[in-house]
This record gives sequence, C-alpha cells and structure tokens, in this order.
Amino acid sequence: MPYSLDPELRRALVERVRYSHEMGIYDFYRREPRLGESTENASTGVAPFPFSTELREEMPARKSAVALAIAEDNILEIALSRPEDRVADPVEALKLIREDLGDCTRCKLHKQGRKQIVFGVGNPRAELMFVGEGPGADEDAQGEPFVGRAGQLLNNMIKAMGLRREDVYIANVVKCRPPGNRTPEPDECETCSPFLMRQIATIKPKVVVALGATAAKNLLAMNSSLGDLRGRWFDFKPSGAQSSDATWPGARLAVTYHPAYLLRDPRQKGETWKDLQMVMKYLGIEPPKKAAE
Ligand code: SF4
Repeated sequence: MPYSLDPELRRALVERVRYSHEMGIYDFYRREPRLGESTENASTGVAPFPFSTELREEMPARKSAVALAIAEDNILEIALSRPEDRVADPVEALKLIREDLGDCTRCKLHKQGRKQIVFGVGNPRAELMFVGEGPGADEDAQGEPFVGRAGQLLNNMIKAMGLRREDVYIANVVKCRPPGNRTPEPDECETCSPFLMRQIATIKPKVVVALGATAAKNLLAMNSSLGDLRGRWFDFKPSGAQSSDATWPGARLAVTYHPAYLLRDPRQKGETWKDLQMVMKYLGIEPPKKAAE
C-alpha cells in the first residue's frame, strides 16, 4: 500500500538533506541486513529504504515506510547526487566543487581576517597529491597553497623527486587562513574537510602525502604522533566522499614533515627525503641524477 508522507516530516527531511549538502556532505550509508533479517518489511510488505544518514542505525517499520515514500518522492536521488557527479572530467568536477564551496562562511575562519579562500592547485588528474594544514599569509594574499617560503621548499622537494609542481595537486585541510597562522581548530577542520575529501575523490591520486601532523590526523582520523605515522603506508579512501569512479581502489597515504617545520628544523630534511623516496619507489619514479637541496 502506498505510504503518504506527512508534509511536515517531508519538509524536515528535505531540510536535513539540504543541510548535509550545504556542509559539503553528499554520501549516505547503507546498512546491510543482519544474518536472518528479512529485507522486506513485515507490516508494509516493501523493501526498506537502504540508506541512512546515521551509521548502523536501526530502521523500524514506520521509518522504512517513510523512507520508501522519500525514495518515491525522488529525495533519494537528490540525497545521493553531488554536483561533480554530473561530469566525468575532473577539471569540470573541481570547478563544481569550488562553486559549491562558494563564498564560504561555514566555519568561523571566514570572519577572522581571511582575504580569500585557497581552494587548491595543480593537475586535476595527478597521481600524487600533497595535503597541508591551511593557508598562511602569502597563500591568503595570492589565493594559492604553498607559495611562501614553505612553498618554495615544497617545490624543491617535488623537483628533487623528478616532478614539476604542475604534475601534482596541492591542497590544505582548511581553505582559509587561521589568524596568526595558528593551527586550525578541530571544528574548523571538520567543517572544511568534506570539500578536501571531495577534491581527493575527484582527482583519484595513487598517493596522498600528508604534510605535518594536522593533515595526517585529519586525513587518517588518528591521534598518533608524527613519529608513529611516518615511514609507513596507510590505505586511504576519502571519508564521506565516495569517488564516482567505482574502479578507483583508493589511495595510499604517507606522512612526512610540513615544509614550514623543516624551515625551523632543517635537520629533518634527510628524514623527509626518506619518506619521499618511499613514495617515489611506489610510483616508480626515478630521481634525477642531482636532487635539489
Ligand atoms: S575554512 Fe573552509 S569551512 Fe571554514 S570558512 Fe573557509 S572554506 Fe569555509
């Protein structure tokens, strides 16, 4: 029997989906039926709505019927589509993510002196992606990540690997400059990172290199020290942002020092070079004969 959705409930659900989209979240999760659990609802005789915005949430009979009505109302279609899903070209897809970000005011960094949003730069089809913490003064002024002194050092690191800056893609966990170059706060990272995850899911790199502890902790959702995270591989899939390419297996993620830290403590350059050599070996990159300093 068709289930008529209460207009008030429908409005609330549409608002919830809209709110998720506004926050850059488009992926919802399927709860697999448990062993012996019927995929049909006994009271309505219909298959339950397979997606929930809450992980592992129980779905009683009324919710299932409500969910079916939502699906019939095409809200499901809206809930599962991100703007970038409409295009296959990653250049266009990144433009759509940038448009979706808009003149963002989602976290408090928008009113703490930022000049502009620093979205990301580089090859939209890059095999290698670097992720830092957030823009500094130079990046805020120029609208591009890693263009100051730390950026020059990152350029040298990329060059030492036998690559050019335009071969890779570079982005940050937060896209607005934290005042005084402070570390971005957890709520700011949490609010901004869905857009980074969507960038990664669009670019589909083979390797992501997290530069520094803030990037590593946010990408891996782990609170370990940099020392514990360096020198090893992690399997990485961008959380909450499935790639529209089902054949992409995800990236491998390595952690190294942030170039700004290396400017303060150049003794760690050798350790960083070891991390980059691990990446080069995995990507099959031969270093040029004379690596840049
Ligand atoms: S840091 Fe990110 S979430 Fe916060 S205002 Fe800037 S773009 Fe928006």
